Amino acid sequence: MPIPAESTAITIQRLSIAPVSNSVISRHVAVIGAGAAGLVTARELRRKGHSVVVYERGDQVGGTWVYTAMVESDCLGLDPTRTKVHSSLYGSLRTNLPREAMGFSDYPFFSRDDPDRDPRRFPGHREVLMYLKDFARKFRIGELVRFETEVVRVRLMEGSKWNVKSRKRDEDGAGFDEIFDAVVVCNGHHTEPRIALIPGMNEWPGKQMHSHNYRDPEPFRDQVVVLIGSSASAVDISRDIAGVAKEVHIAARTVGDETFKKQPGYDNMWLHPMIGSVSGDGTVYFQDGSFVLADVILHCTGYKYDFPFLETNGVVTVDDNRVEPLYKHVFPPALAPWLSFVGLTWKVIPFPMFELQSKWIAGVLSNQLMLPSQEEMMEDVETLYSSLEAAGTPKRYTHRMDISQFEYNSWLAAQCGCPGNEEWRVQMYRALGRNKLARPEAYRDEWEDHHLISQAHEDFIKYTSNGVSDKCVSE
Ligand SMILES: Cc1cc2nc3c(=O)[nH]c(=O)nc-3n(C[C@H](O)[C@H](O)[C@H](O)COP(=O)(O)OP(=O)(O)OC[C@H]3O[C@@H](n4cnc5c(N)ncnc54)[C@H](O)[C@@H]3O)c2cc1C
Repeated sequence: MPIPAESTAITIQRLSIAPVSNSVISRHVAVIGAGAAGLVTARELRRKGHSVVVYERGDQVGGTWVYTAMVESDCLGLDPTRTKVHSSLYGSLRTNLPREAMGFSDYPFFSRDDPDRDPRRFPGHREVLMYLKDFARKFRIGELVRFETEVVRVRLMEGSKWNVKSRKRDEDGAGFDEIFDAVVVCNGHHTEPRIALIPGMNEWPGKQMHSHNYRDPEPFRDQVVVLIGSSASAVDISRDIAGVAKEVHIAARTVGDETFKKQPGYDNMWLHPMIGSVSGDGTVYFQDGSFVLADVILHCTGYKYDFPFLETNGVVTVDDNRVEPLYKHVFPPALAPWLSFVGLTWKVIPFPMFELQSKWIAGVLSNQLMLPSQEEMMEDVETLYSSLEAAGTPKRYTHRMDISQFEYNSWLAAQCGCPGNEEWRVQMYRALGRNKLARPEAYRDEWEDHHLISQAHEDFIKYTSNGVSDKCVSE
């Protein structure tokens, strides 16, 4: 359905790339994962007439947003044989993005007039799961999903088809093979912990764990905790723990020589430079020479990309957290468009970006949109890598975007002939950044961008009055 002509809140970028073929082709496509990325990918693929199978090893949709109190047997995440838990959510987690900005572009993340729902602008994690379930219900994605079915191998066959081997939970045996024209990987990247390597860590006698296995502060009562990291989770978890712990010491790479800088509003929390080493008597030494005797080191140090099922004969590799080579973070040039990835980027507003990436994939697979040649895509990839190197950006930040996400979204939107970023969403992201700096403790409950909320709601009205539409002008 086209956007009403009177709509001003969205800048429509008219189709920049004409459909390349009149004969729209339908493919058999496997989607791995039914989190936010897999759900919207399934929707976009089906909209283009593809036949879609979504494999999900869990028993419900939502991915990361399916909270579980369960933690892994090795809470540092080093033992490859440990039973894995997918979600990294902690009990107190509230979103770090406002709900208006977070939602898919044509299925707003409204607060619902329902006592069972969380109406806050930065709601608790359950509200996000409910939203994703609403989305799946609205677009009947559930009927495409094979639940409790893990993809154990994806192998390229002769003739650029893919053999996908899957296994139903609790079933022994060889598994089940199925052939697909294309595979879209949407398996998430917040499950495989990355830890800080610290001299002496194997002899250090205290408890070490990764934030992936943090659920609630109670185990840290009266403990001295050293927490490594400065991400959103590190900020949240340090505050959570400070309520019960004896002392919390935050060690961050981004901190200069600010030894024992007490955190405003807390009498038991300090900021330090990174840990230099630890010793067998339980001492943790920071890089500026200061030290504490600690009970726990909590690594809030992010995650690794992991595709244990993917066999591409070395075409796609992961090195220092760069998935390479990928054209625009989506297509490996040599295997495009038959293999693609949705959701690898980080420090972004994820859901609307997933939506654009998957529209692009669906359009290319149906022959309506065209990719450059393999050589041109490789050239683009090399240009990106060179520019990152020239700027001194570490390899592991290849998929990190921040403000550049909006340029990327506009590019994707132009490929698909879709509306690009709504201006209010861009401004809201910027306002959030400023507000977090000004009110690190209270940004979720105090803000000044009321005018942007009004603009977002004006924009949303068309979805409630006209029903949900596909905003692509190419449809
Ligand atoms: C602590 C934390 C806080 C966050 N806060 C926010 C926030 O406030 N706002 C926001 O927008 N985003 C936030 N995010 C980012 C969040 O990851 C994204 O919003 C989004 O949910 C990612 O979706 P996804 O589909 O890419 O991955 P996931 O949600 O991880 O889904 C991947 C799915 O793939 C399945 N899967 C994996 N491997 C296989 C396999 N081999 N076979 C079958 N199925 C498989 C998994 O079971 C899972 O269901 C946060 C992330 C974390 C970790």
